[in-house]
Amino acid sequence: MRIPAGTASLILAAAVASGTGQPCTAGSSDPAVTVQRSGEQPSRKGPPENFSGAVRVDPMLKETPPSRMSGGLVTFEPGARTAWHTHPLGQTLIVTAGVGRVQQWGGPVQEIRPGDVVRIPPGVKHWHGALPTAGMSHIALSEAVDGKVVDWLEHVTDAQYDGR
Ligand code: MN
Repeated sequence: MRIPAGTASLILAAAVASGTGQPCTAGSSDPAVTVQRSGEQPSRKGPPENFSGAVRVDPMLKETPPSRMSGGLVTFEPGARTAWHTHPLGQTLIVTAGVGRVQQWGGPVQEIRPGDVVRIPPGVKHWHGALPTAGMSHIALSEAVDGKVVDWLEHVTDAQYDGR
């Protein structure tokens, strides 16, 4: 199909006016892809008011608006676990090492292994942790409501931890 020269000019003008004709070079004020290097954020201990046993938290992802997602790598030594807690918009756990346990209030203790993806619904009371005889690491991802990702409750008793 042959397009008359005048028509082509009009199409080009429309494209520029609608923004599709903008050049694609990144200026200094444009959003940029960033790579946060491993080890840039210091590890911290899981505080004893919220965890039982030895837990290390390696922060990975800070909330960066407009995203509300944040997360980190959590490593539980054998026997270690979270206290009971809820998440306002739920949580996703991706098991990366070891063997662990997860339980929601009133439900069975379930074993979780590397590659397993655990979905915690909003407001559901639960805990997660390692086996008594093996450590467990998971990446935990949550979305914040007014900057809050978790509401902590009471500790998990030894009987609850063992599913008794
Ligand atoms: Mn949780």
